[in-house]
Amino acid sequence: PINRKLAHKYYYYTPIVSALRRLGVKGVEIRKPEQLQNVTSLIIPGGESTTMAKLAEYHNMFPALREFVKMGRPVWGTCAGLIFLADKAIGQKTGGQQLVGGLDCTIHRNFFGSQIQSFEAEVLAPELASKEGGPETFRGVFIRAPAILEVGPEVQVLADYPVSSNSLLSLDSSIEVQKENFEEQSKVIVAVRQGSILGTAFHPELTADTRWHSYFLKMANENGEDASSSLVPIEVD
Ligand code: GLN
Repeated sequence: PINRKLAHKYYYYTPIVSALRRLGVKGVEIRKPEQLQNVTSLIIPGGESTTMAKLAEYHNMFPALREFVKMGRPVWGTCAGLIFLADKAIGQKTGGQQLVGGLDCTIHRNFFGSQIQSFEAEVLAPELASKEGGPETFRGVFIRAPAILEVGPEVQVLADYPVSSNSLLSLDSSIEVQKENFEEQSKVIVAVRQGSILGTAFHPELTADTRWHSYFLKMANENGEDASSSLVPIEVD
């Protein structure tokens, strides 16, 4: 029989909240603009960015989200969340969706192809290595993932990924990115930091590795905020 108490304990939290809890930090899900006043840091998760934009519009989230970013509060966007934070999004069906912006980059939605072309790969990110000589690589889970094609001068690239001719096929001809230049580069950017903003094209919460979450919490602390004490605890009965 299912022990309801245990089931609650182990199945209630979303993967991101679970990852934070493993690091001793309690996260709360934000669904309304006014709830943003109760938190000091924010993670915008993956999903489907046009649908997320429609929902965010419906719930009047955009002004509060833009304000949060502008105030320099630590914000991390994963996948669709990263698309939300980009100043410019391109690629098929981007269709003028609203963005929060703040991250000086051009992102290509669905860069690596459709859902069935989702993949996992070992990716290099030297910032993740520990002083004790821990690994510099992590397992990247890319689910219909975007890629960053261009970044502004303030943006620090934390990880990039070599592109195959297959992924280049997904660059449609209507966009302004020069395919020729791009092929020379032969890498796309999949993790960045700009001040208090972190962006990852992959889903670290779907692995057991919490180093990206630790990295974000460290960023939040550098920002003068004690993330572990200022996040609102979830009430569990
Ligand atoms: N392709 C999705 C989008 O455009 C993002 C996918 C994801 O978040 N895993 O919004």
